[in-house]
Amino acid sequence: MKGLPSVDRAVGVFSRFPGIGKKSAQRMIYHLLRHGVDDVEQLLVSLQALRDRVKYCEVCHNLAEGDLCWVCEDAKRDSSLLCVLEEPSDLMAFEKAGFFNGVYHVLGGRLNPLDEVGPEQLNMVSLKKRLLSGQVKELVIATNPTVEGEATAHFLAQLASSSGCKVTRLAYGLPMGGELEYLDESTLYQALSGRREF
Ligand SMILES: [Zn+2]
Repeated sequence: MKGLPSVDRAVGVFSRFPGIGKKSAQRMIYHLLRHGVDDVEQLLVSLQALRDRVKYCEVCHNLAEGDLCWVCEDAKRDSSLLCVLEEPSDLMAFEKAGFFNGVYHVLGGRLNPLDEVGPEQLNMVSLKKRLLSGQVKELVIATNPTVEGEATAHFLAQLASSSGCKVTRLAYGLPMGGELEYLDESTLYQALSGRREF
């Protein structure tokens, strides 16, 4: 069947999003076409803002609209308590729950030799620098409870061992293979408050 190249191209782009198959992508595109100029205009403006304004925090690699993210800018946060996470979406899960008053370090992924993700592909050098600054008293490892997340946690514990800070790991009564960002607030709270020394 012959289609419209513009529609096919847009469906192709949308179907690359996680959890969106070709069918859902088609539905989204038809929705945009049906609702016309306003929705498309809003989409363009918001995508442009994403491209032009959102970058990574120079300190913790969280998403930011300036040099620093809102956490690193906040002088009331406890910078001696550093929580290391895989992705900005994990950080958002903590922030949404609202009980963590420390600061973060976002790795930008997890160790995964099969996908050729080693320590040099992650934000490890800047983490090491922060640990060696002497400011961090406790490193909370909050990588996901997956095989790769566990391997990353072990690597982080090694990395931190020379810095002299206490190293803890979230208490995973969390389901193995689960992802932090999908946890409800009370499970996340339990995981943090029950954290154990690594
Ligand atoms: Zn930051």
